[in-house]
Amino acid sequence: MTRTALVTGAAGFLGSHLVDRLLRDGWSVVGIDNLSTGRPGNLAGARPRSHFRFAKRDVRSAGPLPTADVVFHLASPASPPRYQERPVYTLETNAVGSQRLFRHASASGARVVLGSTSEVYGDPELHPQPETYWGRVNPIGPRSCYDEGKRYAEALASAWIREKSLDVRIARIFNTFGPRMALDDGRVITNFLAQGWRGQAITVQGSGAQSRSFCYVDDLVDGLVRLAEVAPVDGPVNLGNPDAETTVLELARTVRALTGGRSEIVHVPRAADDPDRRCPDIARARTLLGWSPTTPFAEGLRRTSEYVRSELAAGKESR
Ligand code: UDP
Repeated sequence: MTRTALVTGAAGFLGSHLVDRLLRDGWSVVGIDNLSTGRPGNLAGARPRSHFRFAKRDVRSAGPLPTADVVFHLASPASPPRYQERPVYTLETNAVGSQRLFRHASASGARVVLGSTSEVYGDPELHPQPETYWGRVNPIGPRSCYDEGKRYAEALASAWIREKSLDVRIARIFNTFGPRMALDDGRVITNFLAQGWRGQAITVQGSGAQSRSFCYVDDLVDGLVRLAEVAPVDGPVNLGNPDAETTVLELARTVRALTGGRSEIVHVPRAADDPDRRCPDIARARTLLGWSPTTPFAEGLRRTSEYVRSELAAGKESR
């Protein structure tokens, strides 16, 4: 029997890759997105497919939602500049939107995969970060709208699980990259690649000693699908690539070399509350999902670099 999925944030970077993967696997998919940060072009491949429907909808607003076997709840701004320019909206999307989705899933008997984030760990004292770590988050800082919004969504999911027996699986998604990232959303990999291909200075914030570990999008999406398909999971599951940790300065040098070596590397002020280190402990995902990333960082970077280069050549530099 065909399974149906409701994907919120379907026109986003992750959402659209998830839609494509589900369609390839034979699911029937309804995507919703209010297009605040998502882009219709991301769904160009999905739109002609007979098992796909799209509706421009805001998860915060009332109104009936399509029924589905599984709800993948990914709707939220996710890049620091985007969520920081609309903090109230970001909190509402994660709080009000998640409540609406959980109520809908409960009423219709759906299971939910909640897209949470490694930002719940804040600026961590523990490295790499296991799911048992409670995090170190500034509740009133510039990142708090996203960090606390996602922490609230996790708390709400946990309440629905305990009190109403809703089947919610929480994915803590670490830094992910690949084609379809918006070139103007301020993320480090796309910023550096666009700067490199334009021959502009590569802007390292602070000393560049801070680290991130980057997971290629196809691997991440595979983790989300596996999380939806296994037996109910007790507690959150980290999804990310533990084998691709790099400092931002190393990344700048790698990207400079990959893009022809014309760019100089400059240092600009560091953003407030920027975490010093981040890398997932994925032992739980390995055990519960039989999952670990398979795309080497260099290969993912090469594909993403080609994507950025062709977007720039086509003049598609912004939303
Ligand atoms: N960063 C940077 N230059 C940029 C954009 C980002 O040095 O042009 C740094 C940023 O300070 C952070 C890291 O890259 O330490 C990752 O930033 P990103 O916004 O991609 O993701 P997040 O902070 O959410 O992990």
